[in-house]
Amino acid sequence: MIAREVRLVGAPRGLPTVDDFEIVDVDVGEPLEGQAIVRNAFVSVDPFMRMTMSDVHPVLGRPAAEVGRPLSGGAVGQVIASRTAAFAEGDWVVHQAGWREVSCIGGDDDGIRTIDPQLAPVSTSLGVLGMPGLTAWAGLRMFEPQGEGRTVYVSAAAGTVGSLAAQLAARHGCRVLTSAGAPAKRDWLAELGLGPVFDYHDGVREQLHALAPSGVDLYFDNVGGRHLEEVLGALAFRGRVVACGAISVYNDVEASVGPRNLDLLFTKELTIRGVRSRVHRHEYPEFLAEVAPLVADGSVRYEETIVHGLEQAPAAFIGLFAGANLGKMLVALA
Ligand code: NAP
Repeated sequence: MIAREVRLVGAPRGLPTVDDFEIVDVDVGEPLEGQAIVRNAFVSVDPFMRMTMSDVHPVLGRPAAEVGRPLSGGAVGQVIASRTAAFAEGDWVVHQAGWREVSCIGGDDDGIRTIDPQLAPVSTSLGVLGMPGLTAWAGLRMFEPQGEGRTVYVSAAAGTVGSLAAQLAARHGCRVLTSAGAPAKRDWLAELGLGPVFDYHDGVREQLHALAPSGVDLYFDNVGGRHLEEVLGALAFRGRVVACGAISVYNDVEASVGPRNLDLLFTKELTIRGVRSRVHRHEYPEFLAEVAPLVADGSVRYEETIVHGLEQAPAAFIGLFAGANLGKMLVALA
């Protein structure tokens, strides 16, 4: 069977352009023993993919995996042929074989999950009930931000991770401050009724000082870079940071120097702790048991920005860095 996939032509420097990608016809072939063929319904567009596109990782110094090869990343689809007992024809699966119309999965691939299409629309398995949702839930849980009076700040809060992190923090009884870059996003956040919403372009530290004069107790960081530096200045004594992502620096050509005010770690006894989704994969059952019912009954809300056709995937990806998405950015395949 001939199907299309997206490949990286060369390593982008700075913000990628659509010319950094090409769409290629490939023969998917027949599944080997232990494999299954999946027709994808949606492919996931995720900021982390930028880190796999550099010729040399800016910090780790190792070559990235993706140049000249098909892009990997999340996708959800239906099994159309199987030679493994793990998946039957008709099963819906989430996998990491990425930006392809049709994928061959199995072997020693990790991150493959069968999903229940009755639980929620299958697209949510890439967003609020998928890897980004798990990350929000697990990151927040690390610090158990319980209690009235606790102030939590979430950046990129109208995005996939941020919108769930903010809603879960509010459900834990915290006072939640959020920011987003566009009026429509801030309107949506205001509708959720979580707490004050601001435009980070107008200055992060000043606005946090005004909204939380006693300091922010917990920062859920999706942005990194200068944004993180400003928030460190606005944290309360023993404030904490969930380091989830750093989208503001993913396109940097040189490795970023990092916050210039790390002395605050000891003067304010701050804690910064990272969260990585793949480390928490085994927690999917617990995560879904808690969050899926909240999504189903509407107590947790989510949005999706859907573009159509695999050829739109590169532009959708580039759009993440300009804030083109409200909620999860997805590519729907016919
Ligand atoms: P997302 O928030 O749905 O989309 C990205 C959003 O980031 C954009 O819509 C934009 O919103 C905002 N943004 C882009 N450039 C920015 C900048 N320079 N300053 C401030 N905001 C900026 O993406 P997501 O999938 O939920 O991911 C959010 C973050 O979590 C990313 O950093 C991602 O890499 C990270 N992440 C980490 C893990 C993990 O395992 N640690 C897992 C998933 C995601 P505005 O319009 O508001 O600017």
